[in-house]
Amino acid sequence: MAEDEKQKIRKHRHPGSGRRHTRPVPRGRQVDPRAQDEVRGLLGDGPRRRDLLIEYLHRLQDHYHCLPASRLAALAHEMRLSLTEVYEVATFYAHFDVVDEQDEPLPEITVRVCDSLTCSLYGGDDLLANLQKAHGANVRIVRAPCMGHCDTAPVAEVGHNFADHATVDAVNDLIRRKDTHAHVPDYVGFDAYRADGGYGLVEALDRKETSIADIQDALGKASLRGLGGAGFPTARKWQFVQAEPGPRYFCVNADEGEVGTFKDRHYLESDPHRFLEGVLIAGRAVEAKAVYIYLRDEYPAAREILLREMAAVKAAGLHGGMEMHLRRGAGAYICGEESAMIESIEGKRGLPRHKPPFVAQVGLFGRPTLVQNVETVFWIRDIVEKGAAWFTGQGRHDRTGLRSFSVSGRVARPGVKLAPAGITMQELLDEYCGGMAEGHSFKGYLPGGASGGILPASMANIPLDFGMLEKHGCFVGSHAVVVLSHKDDIKAVALNLMKFFEDESCGQCTPCRVGTEKMVKLMSQPKWDQPLMDELARTMTDASICGLGQAAANPLNAVLKYFREDVTS
Ligand code: SF4
Repeated sequence: MAEDEKQKIRKHRHPGSGRRHTRPVPRGRQVDPRAQDEVRGLLGDGPRRRDLLIEYLHRLQDHYHCLPASRLAALAHEMRLSLTEVYEVATFYAHFDVVDEQDEPLPEITVRVCDSLTCSLYGGDDLLANLQKAHGANVRIVRAPCMGHCDTAPVAEVGHNFADHATVDAVNDLIRRKDTHAHVPDYVGFDAYRADGGYGLVEALDRKETSIADIQDALGKASLRGLGGAGFPTARKWQFVQAEPGPRYFCVNADEGEVGTFKDRHYLESDPHRFLEGVLIAGRAVEAKAVYIYLRDEYPAAREILLREMAAVKAAGLHGGMEMHLRRGAGAYICGEESAMIESIEGKRGLPRHKPPFVAQVGLFGRPTLVQNVETVFWIRDIVEKGAAWFTGQGRHDRTGLRSFSVSGRVARPGVKLAPAGITMQELLDEYCGGMAEGHSFKGYLPGGASGGILPASMANIPLDFGMLEKHGCFVGSHAVVVLSHKDDIKAVALNLMKFFEDESCGQCTPCRVGTEKMVKLMSQPKWDQPLMDELARTMTDASICGLGQAAANPLNAVLKYFREDVTS
């Protein structure tokens, strides 16, 4: 090309200049020095590591009640990350609110009103509408998915304080008094736990009076399984991770977000050291370099307890050199999926990974990783001390072990029910829940949260345990039981659950992202197009990457199969 031609092109690109020159201002959002100083102050001298991004976003969100764009730019600069990386994480999680400087500032107080199934049955939708009507710009009232307080439905979270059995007046009262801090319930503290022989097993291990092999053998004989929902044998999982080369990590999944599940919160808020002792033993079992406890953000009281009690454990030197970290989720149900949780701990969006490789081989920071649920490790001390036979002797209907059922819905006495594995719904209802709530007759139940399907009352005699419900198109999962009555609209129940999945889909794969959205539209029609719904449900189940998309159609399929009259009427 001739030189004058090149000049013409340059002039076109940079009018008024014959020379190639650099852009007069740098690309992208610029870092405001004042914002930079503020962000530096908030981060203190903490390390600027990528895996701490979500923790630091929380610090900013707590301080500003939102994430102003200028502060995000400063954070990106401070952490040597691209602004895009920071934005994509900040906008992924429901508990972060990214705002532009020219937008109206967000109010100091945010009230989250649960609109998931049990709260919806107990008037959560009206509560949300009435609170929104009652408040203007001074308070932000938003809907929220299940917050793990289903036994006291409906619930609203005012700041970090929960209004159980919430009413408009009760929420207004908390707002007026600015009572927005987490209320920590009474629990078994460090000294009381120690006085009762607590951490004796850890000390016995360290003194070599017992061994990991002995403990693992006891857990194997007890048939302890992963109680987060998957039910994988615990001793075998330890074996898989032990077989991989070090360094290894250990992640505890305390993100219980399955609709209707609140058992882990119960244990964390009542007996945290029994859980922490299990953590220390499982960590020693795989010689973990560090343990990361990933706690859902909806459990602020449990967070305060764990921060305090983990410090006590470290001060007593019981951690045995294993680093102990508490990480705070940020309002994403999908982070209960183990690989999504690991991504989140690494400071990224919670997108489930493709498997294989499994996290036991390539997990946190690319290293072999043991992942366990809170309740699973909670039982370790008791099983070893009382013996495997104590645990296996507790089942019913040829099943073995103890299970913690989170029971909510139309029962007289909801709550966490520690009951024999394999108990039937009818037995659970009659013996542990005081029967149905007054004025309600038993119509059906969810045996395993939002994804575990729905069964009619006529099928309340099936043992509730892993592997027992699959032939009926359901599963027990995290043992979250929601009981429905003749007053409940089954179509509305199924739609509520599908909306939950639509909201919580991480968006990574089309069958789930688009499928849940289309299914909500189809299910919102007065007359259901069942052949089309069947086709879409099959596609979601067959082609989604992770369990969320694969199981999202379970409640719908169950309704079409077991509640045909409700669907066609
Ligand atoms: Fe994300 Fe849904 Fe795909 Fe799972 S199935 S990866 S939640 S889009």
